[in-house]
Amino acid sequence: SSPSSFPAIRRLPDPLISQIAAGEVVERPASVLKELLENALDAGSASLQIQLEEGGVKLIRVTDDGAGIAKDELALALTRHATSKIASLNDLEHVSTFGFRGEALASIASVARLTLISCRAGAPHAWRLAADADLPEPAALAQGTLVEMRDLYYNTPARRKFLKSEATELAHCLEAIKRVAMAYPEVAIMASHNGRTSLRLPKSDMQARIGAILGDAFTAESRLVTADAGVLKLTGYCALPAHSRARSDAQYCYVNGRFVRDKLLMHALREAYRDMLHGSRYPAYCIFLDIDPAAVDVNVHPAKSEVRFRDARAVHQFVFHAVQKVLSSPLHALSNPVS
Ligand code: ADP
Ligand code: MG
Repeated sequence: SSPSSFPAIRRLPDPLISQIAAGEVVERPASVLKELLENALDAGSASLQIQLEEGGVKLIRVTDDGAGIAKDELALALTRHATSKIASLNDLEHVSTFGFRGEALASIASVARLTLISCRAGAPHAWRLAADADLPEPAALAQGTLVEMRDLYYNTPARRKFLKSEATELAHCLEAIKRVAMAYPEVAIMASHNGRTSLRLPKSDMQARIGAILGDAFTAESRLVTADAGVLKLTGYCALPAHSRARSDAQYCYVNGRFVRDKLLMHALREAYRDMLHGSRYPAYCIFLDIDPAAVDVNVHPAKSEVRFRDARAVHQFVFHAVQKVLSSPLHALSNPVS
């Protein structure tokens, strides 16, 4: 085409910008649920209730008992790039909350029907704001926040076609809950699907929570790993080679409480198990790495499932040695086997 018929540059309308951004964050119901759970934990909640319908496509409702959102901030919470979690570049470099992009609620609201109900401590009552409403209305809720998403992709039918069966989407939702639950044993979590309880995790400690999620066979055949190098700390459980699996579905790595699928950490673990596992077997583990937030960049990926370490080599060696040491010590010398 001739230069004159080539389309002019124009600014995209805001709703379309949000829908494009939503493509990165809202892949399926489980990704909505992950964002809502992370917001509830960022708000300091002690107890979470999750209600799902039709695999999370029809309904995802998360009720927490955290700090709540002030009436005057409900509308702001739904707009893009609005966050209470960082205010400066310096904050970003030291961020310790799950959220900081201020994108999740706006993205979800652009591809589903979203309603917030929230009550701050000391407020006389809660307020409700639907994303398509103008003003908050009085509502009833104990201190905390209820976020309700309905009809995912109702306005983007092309995306709806990529959703899998109810059972598959539910399985992804439950996995999203387990990933969060593993790192927050002190938070009580209840989940139901189509009105029936599907997960009940009382407040507990790390060992009991991992056992509740990965099962008794895992805890019975695991060893506690702990290592402390000051700036790096590792804790968690690594299953003995006898409990290795045909699939890599029991590998949980966390960095500062955030579940990650990190090549470097997974490689360090694979190396630690190398001489003990046959090629086609996968180790099972759940490990938590704590590191100075300034030494890790979590702003690599919109869903933040990848991280970048400032000193990757040191992290790799630290994890490798800690795990290898525990796996290679004779059983009777282990001080803290899981019962
Ligand atoms: P981000 O988490 O990156 O800040 P979100 O779009 O997920 O962005 O949320 C926007 C803001 O809404 C948050 O910064 C927070 O202030 C508020 N918020 C969202 N969910 C909750 C919740 N469950 N409890 C309290 N505040 C919340
Ligand atoms: Mg968030």
